Amino acid sequence: MRMKRPTLETVPVIILVSLYVIIVLNRTFWRKGAVYLDGHEYQLAALGTALFLLMTAALVSLSVKFVVKPLLIFVILVSAVASYFVDSFGIMIDREMIANVALTTSTEAGQLLTSRFLLHLVAYGLLPSALLLMVKIEHRTWWAKFRQNSLVVFPSLLVSLALTLLCYPAFSSTFRNHGDLLGTFNPAAPLVATVKYVKRQMAERDIVAKPLGTDAHPGERATASRRPMVTVVVIGETARALNFGLNGYSRDTTPELRTRGVTSFRNVSSCGTSTAVSVPCMFSNLTRAGYSSSSARSSENVTDVLQRGGAKVSWFDNDTGSMGVAARVPYEFLPDSYDPRFCRGGECLDDILVDRLRGELTRTRGDTVIVLHQLGSHGPSYYRRYPDGFRTFRPDCRTAEFADCKREEIVNAYDNTILYTDHVLAEIVDLLNSRPDLASSMLYVSDHGESLGENGIYLHAMPYFMAPSTQTHVPMIAWFSGAYKEASGLDGDCVTQLRDQPLSHDNLFHTLLGLADVATQVYDAKLDAFAACRSRPGEKHLAFSMKGASR
Ligand SMILES: [Zn+2]
Repeated sequence: MRMKRPTLETVPVIILVSLYVIIVLNRTFWRKGAVYLDGHEYQLAALGTALFLLMTAALVSLSVKFVVKPLLIFVILVSAVASYFVDSFGIMIDREMIANVALTTSTEAGQLLTSRFLLHLVAYGLLPSALLLMVKIEHRTWWAKFRQNSLVVFPSLLVSLALTLLCYPAFSSTFRNHGDLLGTFNPAAPLVATVKYVKRQMAERDIVAKPLGTDAHPGERATASRRPMVTVVVIGETARALNFGLNGYSRDTTPELRTRGVTSFRNVSSCGTSTAVSVPCMFSNLTRAGYSSSSARSSENVTDVLQRGGAKVSWFDNDTGSMGVAARVPYEFLPDSYDPRFCRGGECLDDILVDRLRGELTRTRGDTVIVLHQLGSHGPSYYRRYPDGFRTFRPDCRTAEFADCKREEIVNAYDNTILYTDHVLAEIVDLLNSRPDLASSMLYVSDHGESLGENGIYLHAMPYFMAPSTQTHVPMIAWFSGAYKEASGLDGDCVTQLRDQPLSHDNLFHTLLGLADVATQVYDAKLDAFAACRSRPGEKHLAFSMKGASR
């Protein structure tokens, strides 16, 4: 005999699903709401009721036969996945987070599919969906259904409107001061963010980059130099300034760079809190205030200007791609090489960048700019970013599952990634130093920082206005060969004196043009971090006056 399936009408099913999602899959929302509306319990209850009624009204109005079950299962699954990341990493799912997900590599994505995540998905997503599938939903005739639905939808909307008006002062100040609250509400936040992301992608689809710096040409210094000018730009990943020994961190995470005569700039802020924002922003001639994804795409960037100005530009990527920046210059995605010396499971240690640079330098004849895009400290699998020889800080968290590690273990693993980056940068300096026939310089700057459990927040990509400084305060390190200082008229001591000047990603565009000595009208010396330490050809440099002026 067949077991009889439970039978329910659409409205009770929808009410059950709404209650389930609002109560069980919105823990962070309730936790934050309780803090932000502390002392206003009625308003918090009113907010929950209003959201429940809105959700119910929306689902009931879409409750057409054959649609309602897949729709409810979709809502449950989206909420279950989002709640895992929001609850366990303290992240917010906004448009930029969706962009990060869309631009991530499959290897990176695979590392997030931990057993704990799968368990969460089964318990909170698949199991309730299976229960829902077992229920037989009884549909009324079209007219009866319309009448019944109207009796649910309109009163729900009216009551939620009334509640909102009643609590308007509390709601409006909470949402204004705590923009993150609705950003954690499931399933609305991830769905709205996806719609916004898709809308932006559609709008940007046909954008063609307008030429920039069409007058670019080699500057006087570059023209006069007997040796080719070689600029190596290293774009760091997820490295935060705080954890660099060179910047005064309690651990010596930068023992190798310390002996290489580099200058570490200690007051540098990023343009964004994610790769997808920071990388296009830092190479564009837009400032952070003027940056938007579409305006950056509408124009060429500094790699194009450098190339037009006579430098051979190439981009070697060991991260998740150039985010469209290297669209018009030679580009290599190194993980595609599957080089067994560095790569495993579709990812490679950053030493592959040094190896590639070494090969490239043997062929270098004229002025050259090489961009190396690091995998750096990309989480949550910090332990996969460094070889065993760099497990200095122990015990180091050996899983992408932060819940299985103590906070110190996560920090230890992160600090080992910085230690390895220190090694990679020192290798680049040594490589350039071994080539006195080149006038070479290296500039390292990270794309954004990282949260390591401060206030329960991990990883990055928080909306900028509320991001902690650990996510926006980035390391920047410069090194110049003797031949470069001679050829460019740069005073190294002067540069060192400027290490505390406030800088940001806004400066990169102009600093790179200055470093490679490409002259163009779009260059602004005021934004070039080193301009004050460079003399014009045939002039005494400004170092003496700078020394007096700097702190
Ligand atoms: Zn990044």
